[in-house]
Amino acid sequence: MSDRQYLLLILGFLAFTECLFWVRRGGVVFRQMATRRWRAVLRSEAIGNERGDLHWCWPLPPAGRVYITRSWPFAAAPDGIVAAPVDCLHPSGQPGGPTVFFGWDAISEVVADGKRLRVNGQELFRSDSPYEPLFFAALLQELSRLPAPVRVEHLRDVLRQSFDREALQEVLADFSERTAGWVTTCTGLWGFLVIACPAIIWRFGWLPALWWLAPALLLQMAWITVGFVRLHRRFFPAANDDRFKLALVYALAPVSASRAPDSLSRPLLGSFHPLCVAAGLLSSAELAPLAESVWRELRYPRSATPESRTAQGLAVEVWFRSEIKSRVESLLREVNLDTAVWERSPVPTDPTHACYCPRCLSQFTQEATTCTDCGRLPLSPIVLSVP
Ligand SMILES: [Zn+2]
Repeated sequence: MSDRQYLLLILGFLAFTECLFWVRRGGVVFRQMATRRWRAVLRSEAIGNERGDLHWCWPLPPAGRVYITRSWPFAAAPDGIVAAPVDCLHPSGQPGGPTVFFGWDAISEVVADGKRLRVNGQELFRSDSPYEPLFFAALLQELSRLPAPVRVEHLRDVLRQSFDREALQEVLADFSERTAGWVTTCTGLWGFLVIACPAIIWRFGWLPALWWLAPALLLQMAWITVGFVRLHRRFFPAANDDRFKLALVYALAPVSASRAPDSLSRPLLGSFHPLCVAAGLLSSAELAPLAESVWRELRYPRSATPESRTAQGLAVEVWFRSEIKSRVESLLREVNLDTAVWERSPVPTDPTHACYCPRCLSQFTQEATTCTDCGRLPLSPIVLSVP
């Protein structure tokens, strides 16, 4: 293999690795395809474990845009917060385990520590990036300082904003408008690296090509890095550490710089509920199954084991689930999705099936009473509808 072929191989490998990213369980990846349509991915098609999944984005920019959202990683209520998400959309659910309850009056310290959020020194949740801990640290600090009646209203207001479809469209429009020129420069660098550089080196040889390829490359990387710092400060003003680290990477690594828009788009919609983002991006045919998953998760929650929950923690979960469910149902009405259809019994897939799990829709024979996959949730009888 010649030096030039090695160069192509290395560039191709680096471009490929830039398209892979890890998402902790429960994150919903909205991936733009080559057709410019959006797909929601709840779990990886290839690699994953009990903590998360390896996802990919379309390798040809600018079509490969990705947004990652997830439901709140904890539940909040008038009494306090508990480290238990109420609607994890991963098909395998959230890893179980004991959860910690914090009363509002007992919260003395909330710290965003990189990808972790700590309350009174204890970890409340761990995320994929520092953006989520920063957002929720500011929110919890504010809520814990408010008087109780005002706190509840403010909490409801923040939840309402996470389902605000108009605000979502405003954020998307603002992002597209502000980043359009810069994204074009990044796409240009990608074309320069993958097409122009190998072609020119092939035609003229290493040394003659290097004389003008190197200044052109440095100019583009400097332009992208300066633009990145400006835009990152605009969209994520509190994430100073991440901004510095990424700027350093883009100033030194040309392939990473060509994918710099990903680092702005992935966390952009993190404050919105996944269903709100789905309603804004997906076609109605793709929205319906995701909406049904969200609704079943809230309507038929996985039964909690008594030893993993305190009475206070369970009460917080019930209140928070009820708040989220009412907003989900309101959004479903707005997009003309009728939940009554999902309440109906499924058609038995086998004549021996007499009951089903209303949460995961698995079917069982007469002897079964609970679904073990859904935390021993009681089964419902299959009722054949009369045509
Ligand atoms: Zn089930």
